[in-house]
Amino acid sequence: MEMPIPDPSVLARKDRVVARLQQVLPADAVIHEDAETRAYECDALTAYKCPPMVAVLPSSTQEVSDVLRICHEEGVPVVPRGSGTSLAGGALPTADCVILGVARMNDVLETSYADRFVRVQTGRTNLSVTGAVEEDGFFYAPDPSSQLACAIAGNIAMNSGGAHCLKYGVTTNNLLGVTMVMMDGEVVELGGTHMDAGGLDLLGLICGSEGQLGVVTEATLRILPKPEGARPVLMGFDSAEVAGACVADIIKAGVLPVAIEFMDKMLIEVCEDFAKADYPMCEALLIVEVEGSEEEIDHQLALITEIAQRHDPVALRESASAEESARIWAGRKAAFSAIGRISDYMCLDGTIPVSSLPYVLRRIGEMSEHYGLPVGNVFHAGDGNMHPLICYDANKPGDLEICEEFGAEVLKLCVEAGGCLTGEHGVGIEKRDLMSHQYAPADLEAQMAVKDVFDPAWLLNPAKVFPLDVSEARRAERMAAE
Ligand SMILES: Cc1cc2nc3c(=O)[nH]c(=O)nc-3n(C[C@H](O)[C@H](O)[C@H](O)COP(=O)(O)OP(=O)(O)OC[C@H]3O[C@@H](n4cnc5c(N)ncnc54)[C@H](O)[C@@H]3O)c2cc1C
Repeated sequence: MEMPIPDPSVLARKDRVVARLQQVLPADAVIHEDAETRAYECDALTAYKCPPMVAVLPSSTQEVSDVLRICHEEGVPVVPRGSGTSLAGGALPTADCVILGVARMNDVLETSYADRFVRVQTGRTNLSVTGAVEEDGFFYAPDPSSQLACAIAGNIAMNSGGAHCLKYGVTTNNLLGVTMVMMDGEVVELGGTHMDAGGLDLLGLICGSEGQLGVVTEATLRILPKPEGARPVLMGFDSAEVAGACVADIIKAGVLPVAIEFMDKMLIEVCEDFAKADYPMCEALLIVEVEGSEEEIDHQLALITEIAQRHDPVALRESASAEESARIWAGRKAAFSAIGRISDYMCLDGTIPVSSLPYVLRRIGEMSEHYGLPVGNVFHAGDGNMHPLICYDANKPGDLEICEEFGAEVLKLCVEAGGCLTGEHGVGIEKRDLMSHQYAPADLEAQMAVKDVFDPAWLLNPAKVFPLDVSEARRAERMAAE
């Protein structure tokens, strides 16, 4: 993965930049010793590593503004960071950057049950947003599997989703407003405490903008009353294609489960071994969950199991208790960690139309044989959001490169099937160079023109999202301006 050469003039200014940052932040919030900046050298795409020049940990919007103003004046690139769980390398530093981590900004600022929102600092973890309101019967719906660790900051930047987003939508559908600091230090408010603020939908633009346009410091999130109950059903099939066809039929029938999750044989075995979720051993497993009152649950599950029966399942089992439901989800949510126990892997993230699931799964199987690398599939099948996990050996020379080539082919397949390079993990550096495959030069130019408006000096989160060759002229202009 090519990264831009660090700017020597920025590196030469390190001492001055550190001294200026120490004037606006407490001493322990400016990390600049080589041994300590290493803690920020990568995110969850661990194949790529690069310690930043400096890392800062501000505690308030004002401190973020001060940091950005200084970096803007000094011409220093800034990489915003939440919890560093990005699987796309979105928070990967460059050697000449300041990492701006919001982990210390984790307060709940305001809660309104009447208007159903909670306003938090964006360093707060996803799960602890629900933690702040659940005693009062509410929850925050988007539920990435990394929700114990990932921050609302990264969720907004990547427009993150999760298993239950089939019904509730992804982050953008649950975000009401943000406080954002522009690269020059100006603080702006977008949206509010209600759905759909007037004017251009700038909030929609910010959500999913991968730290390219500003640093989000506070967020107003929609919260919902907890459903009366929920129950998953496990469905096992003797082929991935048949499971894919079953998903397509459930969606077509107009029933709306909260989640439809798919796992293939490799993932079933690995997760069972890890979480003892009592999964049936078969070629493909679906976890379908519905919510509501007992009567609503019974009614929906009757329709869903009737559809499943038409596809000759080898196993069909409704959860019989809250403990069993928790176990079923513990297995699925541990999928990435569970496979990490047995192999290095690269987690892909692409979206396809649900009806093309059987075709795409077959093609991925064929590619796996062609490239000689095993692949496990686990994904949000109801949304067509795929997560093929390609296993490789990081210690075997050349294996990572083969894995990357295989991954690129899978993502191109998603585009060819009528889908998209990203589902919920974003572009980052991982899919940066594939953007030219999905977008024509004019499309990329339009996207870069948006960045020009928010970040004219191109200092925010460099080398991500836009292929290096297409952003070259803009980056060269910045260097020349210094
Ligand atoms: C085991 C595992 C499971 C996962 N499961 C899911 C899943 O189910 N669904 C899903 O969507 N993702 C999933 N992810 C990916 C990841 O957790 C999400 O992308 C998450 O939203 C990243 O949040 P973070 O706080 O860790 O962000 P980081 O990794 O720190 O940063 C992610 C991006 O956000 C930008 N950013 C960070 N803070 C700010 C800010 N304050 N303002 C502007 N931009 C900012 C960064 O520059 C970067 O581009 C998973 C990851 C792992 C490791």
